[in-house]
This record gives sequence, structure tokens and C-alpha cells, in this order.
Amino acid sequence: MALLDSARKALAGLPVTRLRAVSSYYRSRPLAGKDQPDYVNAVAELSTALAPEALLDALQDIERAHGRRRDGERWQSRTLDLDILLYGQRRINTGRLRIPHPGIVQRDFVVVPLAELAPALNVPGYGNIQALMRQTPRRGLQRLSR
Ligand code: ATP
Ligand code: CA
Ligand code: CA
Repeated sequence: MALLDSARKALAGLPVTRLRAVSSYYRSRPLAGKDQPDYVNAVAELSTALAPEALLDALQDIERAHGRRRDGERWQSRTLDLDILLYGQRRINTGRLRIPHPGIVQRDFVVVPLAELAPALNVPGYGNIQALMRQTPRRGLQRLSR
């Protein structure tokens, strides 16, 4: 949680960017591997003049600054993972970026904090966040008090 607080400060310090809001923190079980520790997830809302790829670069800098090494398999246990879930209402599909992030759907640890921040949100290509809430299976997500 100290790590998430630190990541949040780093987001607030991004150039030409404002940190608008952060959801509660939520504890969840890892997607792969029972031997991994639980994750803590949150969703942040930014307004930024950074282009999507520049934002991704900046987020990966923050991941590295928090000790993440990008050398293992996907979904392995790691210190910090910062994904761009949405960029306004834009849809982006490049070699490096898929927005909306395809992992929004079916992940309670994304949908629930996203709905907390933006209860009327439309997710381009997926629809209303409340409909996504009803479709997403719950895997024992636990909201943490802060
Ligand atoms: P998942 O994407 O399923 O949540 P992950 O976050 O563990 O898995 P990573 O290893 O962190 O995956 O990222 C792999 C690559 O995903 C990154 O190098 C980046 O280029 C790409 N990527 C595509 N779309 C996005 C996005 N919307 N936000 C962040 N990274 C993205
Ligand atoms: Ca991820
Ligand atoms: Ca990621």
C-alpha cells in the first residue's frame, strides 16, 4: 500500500498531467499461480496533454523506478503494474497499445474500482460500466479502507 501511495505521487508528478481522482484500494487474488501474494489494485483518473504512447513511456518509467524488471513472463508477481485502461473515448490499436485495455472486462479488480470513480462511464466497444459490473464474475475482491 505504501507502494501504491508512492505510485500515486509519481502520477501526480507527471509532466503536463493532473491527477484528478484515485479509487479505493482493492485486494485481489493473482490471476496466475496460487503461490503468489495477493495484489492491491486501484484506478486513477488523469487529465493529460501527453499523447497515449508518451503516457505509456512515462508509466513504464514509474514502474522501473519502483523496482519492476520486465524480463519474466506475463502476470508474474511484480512490484508495480500501471496499465492505461482508457484514454478518453478513443480506441487505439498499435503494436504497443490497446485502448480500451482488453483486460477491463472480466476483471473484477478493474471494473469495480473503475465504476467507483466513474459510475456513468461508457467503455468504447464494451458499453456501460454498470452493465460490465453485472457481467463480471467476482473472485473475492476486498475493498480496503484507507
Ligand atoms: P495485461 O495487459 O493482461 O494486464 P500485463 O499488464 O501483465 O498484462 P505487461 O507485461 O505489463 O502486461 O505489458 C505488456 C505490454 O502491453 C506492454 O509492453 C505494452 O506495450 C502493452 N500494452 C498494450 N496495451 C496497453 C495498455 N492499454 N496499457 C499498458 N500497456 C499496454
Ligand atoms: Ca496489467
Ligand atoms: Ca501492464
